[in-house]
Amino acid sequence: MTRRVIVAANWKMNGNLELVNSMNAGLESLVLSNNVDVVLCPSDPYLVPLSIVTKTENIHLGAQNVSEHLSGAFTGEVSTTMLQEMSVQYVIVGHSERRSFYKESSTEVARKVKAVLAANLTPILCIGESEAERSALKTETVLSAQLQPVIDEVGIEKFIDVVIAYEPVWAIGTGKTASPEMAQETHQFIRQFLTNENADVANKVPLLYGGSVNAANCEKLFAQTDIDGGLIGGASLKVDEFKVICSTAKGS
Ligand code: PEP
Repeated sequence: MTRRVIVAANWKMNGNLELVNSMNAGLESLVLSNNVDVVLCPSDPYLVPLSIVTKTENIHLGAQNVSEHLSGAFTGEVSTTMLQEMSVQYVIVGHSERRSFYKESSTEVARKVKAVLAANLTPILCIGESEAERSALKTETVLSAQLQPVIDEVGIEKFIDVVIAYEPVWAIGTGKTASPEMAQETHQFIRQFLTNENADVANKVPLLYGGSVNAANCEKLFAQTDIDGGLIGGASLKVDEFKVICSTAKGS
């Protein structure tokens, strides 16, 4: 099955104009395998200055969050229309930091996914279990409970336009990566969960792995059958390392 392969950079609230400029310059020489897309998700003020996306076909802009509302009295929020106007194509939704620090529930995440799809943008829907949940053998229950409200809100057919990022919370920013086998096993579970709803759609949804991915461990992770790229935090702030990760991803 040919699926799109995506390497997405989540800068979180990091970076500055200097990083933007070095990414713009550094990514000009990036060589990507066929069918691989790179998505840069900086903080909103740096979306437009990341002009590399206007020069390179397979490099795109992504936001880290969006409002579920289209406009109005929501101080501090950004709408899908505003992102669209700035040529953004992807939006990270439901990152574990949003779920934990800003108490975003899975039903709120589901409404955001709906808003993103309605604007013809691609949501990168993040799901993942905590360390305690994995130890208590609750990983599958937690992932199901994060996915089901989104399926209920938008319908499984719409998942054809959704990218899912599996990010075990215990692996984010900790240097602890899931082993390729553990990540594959969980990705297989996610694909099966979607298959139970619609096998054709499930086969086409890119499943990214995120959690301390770096230049040294990405090759084995990306080689797994159900891993279609990665969501990269810390390592996406280093131009050379990020380039290695991007060119390690193999499309078809
Ligand atoms: C992330 O924040 O999405 C992430 C995967 O971070 P890191 O790569 O730093 O673990």
